[in-house]
Amino acid sequence: MTAVQHITVLGATGSIGLSTLDVIARHPDRYQVFALTGFSRIAELEALCVKHKPRYAVVPDAVVAHQLQVSLRAAGLVTEVLHGAQSLCEVAAHADVDVVMAAIVGAAGLPPTLAAAEAGKKVLLANKEALVMSGALFMQAVKRGGAVLLPIDSEHNAIFQCLPGDYARGLQQVGVRRVLLTASGGPFREMPLDQLHAVTPEQACAHPNWSMGRKISVDSASMMNKGLELIEACWLFDASPAQIEVVVHPQSVIHSLVDYVDGSVLAQLGNPDMRTPISHALAWPERIDSGVAPLDLFAIARLDFQVPDEQRFPCLRLAREAAQAGGTAPAMLNAANEVAVAAFLERRIRFPEIASIIEHVLQAEPAVALECLDTVLVADGQARNLAERWLAQR
Ligand code: NAD
Ligand code: MG
Repeated sequence: MTAVQHITVLGATGSIGLSTLDVIARHPDRYQVFALTGFSRIAELEALCVKHKPRYAVVPDAVVAHQLQVSLRAAGLVTEVLHGAQSLCEVAAHADVDVVMAAIVGAAGLPPTLAAAEAGKKVLLANKEALVMSGALFMQAVKRGGAVLLPIDSEHNAIFQCLPGDYARGLQQVGVRRVLLTASGGPFREMPLDQLHAVTPEQACAHPNWSMGRKISVDSASMMNKGLELIEACWLFDASPAQIEVVVHPQSVIHSLVDYVDGSVLAQLGNPDMRTPISHALAWPERIDSGVAPLDLFAIARLDFQVPDEQRFPCLRLAREAAQAGGTAPAMLNAANEVAVAAFLERRIRFPEIASIIEHVLQAEPAVALECLDTVLVADGQARNLAERWLAQR
C-alpha cells in the first residue's frame, strides 16, 4: 500500500471539485485533503472544510477570509484561511502536496495549474482552458518540473486509457492512425436552426447526459467545448488537428476512441459520471472504486454516431482554425468565448452571437508566436477588450 497522498483541490465548490471530494471520501486510507479553494458559495466551502479538515482554505478576498476563519475556529478547526490569486499558487505548489486537482473554470485557473506543473506535482487537469491558452508553455513547464499530467476531461482520459504507455514516443510511432473525439452534440443538436436565436441560458445549461458547471454547459451547447477539447488533445497527445476527428455520439457512453493502423479501434466506455475519470487519474496506474454504477449495455441498447454540423456549430470550426493558426490564437479564442458565454448567461446577447463575437475577435487581432506567459496574458487581455467593445457597440 502506497503512502497517503496529500491533495489540493482548486475549485473545490464546483461540479468537478465536489465529485473529486466524493471519491476522496471513499478512500480515507489513500487520500488526505491539504487545501480547498472556492471563489463563491462560501457556505458550501465551509461545510467542505468541516468535512475534510484541510490545512488551508483559499477564498477571493480578505473580508471573506476573515469571516470564514472565524466560523472555522468556532467549529474547532485549525484550517488556516488564505486569500487571493497568489495563495492559489502557493497551495498548488506547496512542498507537502502530492496531487493537485485543477478544477477552477476558465483563465483564472492558469497560474495555479502552471505553478503545480512547475513544482512537479501529479496534476489532474480538468481546467482545459489553462492548457488551451498556454499550450506549449504549459507542456514545457510539466517537463521542466517533472510533473505527471493526467487528463480529467472524460474524452482525454478515455484516449489516455486507449493509448499504449509509451505514446509520448509519438502517435505515428505507436501505430495510431486517428484519435476519435466523441461529442454528445448538447441540448441543441436537433433544434431547428431558426430557433437557436431564442434559446435561454436555462435551456443551454440543461445538458442531456452530463451535470456540469454553467460555463462548460454553454460550451457544450455551442460545441465550443469540443473545439477547446480538440486543442487540449493536440497538446496532451502531441497530435496535429488533422489527426483528430470529432464524432457526434448522442448517448455519451463511448468517451472517445483510438484508431490504429492495423484496423483496431480501442474505446473507453462508461456511464457519464465524472467520478470515473477522476478515480482513474487519482489512483493511476492502479484502479479504485469510484461509486459509479456499472454500465448496463442492455438498458442503453444502441449507440449512434453522426458527423458534426459546422453550420449549426460554427464554434467548432473557429476552434479548429485557431488550432491550425497556433501561437496566441487559441488563447484569444478562449478569452473571447469566456466573455461571450458570460454575456449570454447574463442575457445580454443571443446564443448565436457567441460565435459572432469570437469570429470578430479572431479577425480583428492577428495571432503572434507564444514566447512566454506574458504573451499569453497580453493576448487574453486584448481579446477580452475586443469582445467587450463588440458588446458595448452592439
Ligand atoms: P464549476 O463552475 O462548477 O466550478 C468552478 C470552480 O472554480 C468553483 O469552485 C469556483 O468557485 C471556482 N472559480 C470560478 N472562478 C474563479 C476565479 N476567478 N478564481 C478562483 N476560482 C474560481 O465548473 P466545473 O463544471 O466544475 O468545471 C471546472 C473545470 O473543469 C472547467 O475548466 C471545465 O471545463 C472542466 N471540466 C468540467 C467537467 C464537468 O463535468 N463539470 C468535465 C470536463 C471538464
Ligand atoms: Mg469533456
